[in-house]
Amino acid sequence: MSPELIGLGYIVSAALFIFGLKQLGSPDTAVRGNQLSSIGMLIAIVVTLLGQGIVDFKWIAGAAILGALVGGIAAQKVEMTSMPEMVALFNGTGGIASLAVGWAALYPFPEANSAFTLVTIVLSILIGGITFSGSLIAYGKLSEVMTSSAIVFGGQRIVNSLILVGIVVCAVMFVMNPDPTSPVFWTLLALSLLLGIMAVIPIGGADMPVVISLLNSYSGLAACAAGFAINNNILIVAGSLVGAAGLILTNIMCKAMNRSLANVLFSGFGAVKQATKVEGEVKPIVSEDAFLILEAASNVTFVPGYGMAVAQAQHVVRELGDLLEANGCEVTFAIHPVAGRMPGHMNVLLAEANVPYDQLVEMDDINPRIENVDVAVVIGANDVVNPAAREDENSPIYGMPIINVDKARTVFVLKRSMASGFSGVDNPLFFGENTRMLFGDAKESISKVIAEFKG
Ligand code: NDP
Repeated sequence: MSPELIGLGYIVSAALFIFGLKQLGSPDTAVRGNQLSSIGMLIAIVVTLLGQGIVDFKWIAGAAILGALVGGIAAQKVEMTSMPEMVALFNGTGGIASLAVGWAALYPFPEANSAFTLVTIVLSILIGGITFSGSLIAYGKLSEVMTSSAIVFGGQRIVNSLILVGIVVCAVMFVMNPDPTSPVFWTLLALSLLLGIMAVIPIGGADMPVVISLLNSYSGLAACAAGFAINNNILIVAGSLVGAAGLILTNIMCKAMNRSLANVLFSGFGAVKQATKVEGEVKPIVSEDAFLILEAASNVTFVPGYGMAVAQAQHVVRELGDLLEANGCEVTFAIHPVAGRMPGHMNVLLAEANVPYDQLVEMDDINPRIENVDVAVVIGANDVVNPAAREDENSPIYGMPIINVDKARTVFVLKRSMASGFSGVDNPLFFGENTRMLFGDAKESISKVIAEFKG
């Protein structure tokens, strides 16, 4: 294939990536955006294979079929609630792939590489290694294979600083004498994997979404470095897009939690502070009472959280919303940016249930008028509606913006028990004067209210 055709193919796929990303910005164009980006990736792969013919096609076809099988089966089987773990694993595979590409670029050894190429090879191995091991730890924490709390110990920062110094020394030594069989290379590899582990273990609880997004950005940067190492333009473009998109998302999430990135990465969130103990009287209600109050309400705001995903209650929630509207009630769905277990989790679930987009309101739009909401129905949300984040300076989540449902006229909280949410912090909302607890699985509770509506 001529270099002009290869260049043209890469430009088309880069344009498709950018259009695809743009369309991911809105729920109604997101599916098309995903498809466009996939076509862009297919074009990039085909052009690269035809242009270079690097490896025997039998090997490539075998690997492509195996990869497609594993990816296809995993995507079919994964529960919506386990998507963040899946994303963590994907980030990890991106990291290890870039590490492998950088490593392979050192061969045939001892072919001379320029100093620039060697630096990019070291960067792809280093960032790829950190992304891989860090993502595995993130996976372990999210799937609770290991503790999800922050793991902190005395002297941790000194240990991390020593690892960093070791990496810099090994990297310089390796660029000066780039022998992939030397102990310096193996030490560099081991230290980058170790740094990934050490960087993620002190981050816990509610900060995991930011870590996932940051690791996603790292996987892009590693791919970008690998692109420079093997002089492949589309890898540089795709890597930069992933790196930049991940960083922007990380920044948005930090803002949503009112924290700096440094605070997220280094504060050992949740490991030190203990929130003030919450006590008070809980006021449980049954679905018949909930129905009577909802029937009389002139406006209702649903606030979904992780429990809605667990209960798979989105379809019945929509049905209840429709019944309320038919009853003359104004219905909205208030979405917190980190509700659930991944960015956009609630939007995806509500879109799946065909909730109209114009009923969705963001946290910043609902909070100024929350005092006028007759009933706020909290469906399996906990941390994102915890007033301790606003009022208790001792709380580990102090400063995180929340949806102020406690200021609505009446609040229904649908959950199974008094258990705390992801951050492990007690919630004073459950003892509020205007709060009524509707205990049980969210889907069952709402189905009972619907049954009341239907008479
Ligand atoms: P939380 O994890 O704070 O609370 C979820 C609540 O759902 C629990 O208290 C649980 O209570 C309830 N629940 C679970 N299953 C059911 C069920 N079947 N029916 C009814 N209720 C149920 O969720 P939030 O969405 O409020 O907050 C998200 C948290 O996760 C934040 O701390 C956020 O920072 C963090 N996070 C967010 C990510 C993101 O990107 N969105 C990613 C990773 C973490 P009970 O057991 O009593 O039923």
